[in-house]
Amino acid sequence: MVNQRRHISGAVYVLLLTAPVLWGLVSQTCNGRSQSPVNIVTSKVLPDERLTPFHFTGYKETFYGSLINTGHSVQLNLPSSIQIKGGNLDDEYKAIQFHLHWGKDGGRGSEHTIDGEKFPMEMHIVHIKEGYDSLAEASKDSTGVAVLGFFFQVLGKHNFKKMSNIQYKFDNTNTKPYFRYNGSLTTPDCAEAVVWTLFESTIPLSRNQLAAFNQLRFYDGQKMVNNYRPVQPLNGRQVYYSSGQLALVSSLLLVVNVSH
Ligand SMILES: [Zn+2]
Repeated sequence: MVNQRRHISGAVYVLLLTAPVLWGLVSQTCNGRSQSPVNIVTSKVLPDERLTPFHFTGYKETFYGSLINTGHSVQLNLPSSIQIKGGNLDDEYKAIQFHLHWGKDGGRGSEHTIDGEKFPMEMHIVHIKEGYDSLAEASKDSTGVAVLGFFFQVLGKHNFKKMSNIQYKFDNTNTKPYFRYNGSLTTPDCAEAVVWTLFESTIPLSRNQLAAFNQLRFYDGQKMVNNYRPVQPLNGRQVYYSSGQLALVSSLLLVVNVSH
């Protein structure tokens, strides 16, 4: 009997975790006033000349690693030798992991939206301030975490070579124009500790690559689809834009090949 009860409460907990609208019951922080993701209204963003290009360290290397199914996304842990600074960040930040959010059956599943438009997939590269040892520690600092967000756009029907790993590659000193605002982690405990950077230009993805994500499953056995949190109210927060740097930047190269 006792075991059965335990089993039931476990199932309820999983249900809560997979229903973003109920996250406030898991963590009060998820009901906060500076939550993420948000919809970015481009006619309301403010150009900010302090938003200089990033300097990427270690991003030039090519990393291969197995994706970890975390139960709410797939994640690749990153070495702390990967770092970013610049971009009006108040410190140097080291990478800890990246993960993805996507939709269902090739539908749209980004977390952030631009003028109400949702993209098929969104990648988050999560960094913490150099002085911290964990995401939990960095989450106590209102600017302890810096996430770089990239949107994917489906292009054509290419048959990309099958790969079991993700490969990605950056040029080390360039950026494309980006949006900036202060928000939160998009999964519980939704800590309001994130300096968000969302790059405007999209990364191409084939339909086959996107379809590969539909094979993943949540812990409860359900297909891992629509693993995004809906947009949250801005509550007066301003979104900034790194305009005025177009002439200074070159291309960002990012290659992602995913299969199962
Ligand atoms: Zn995320």
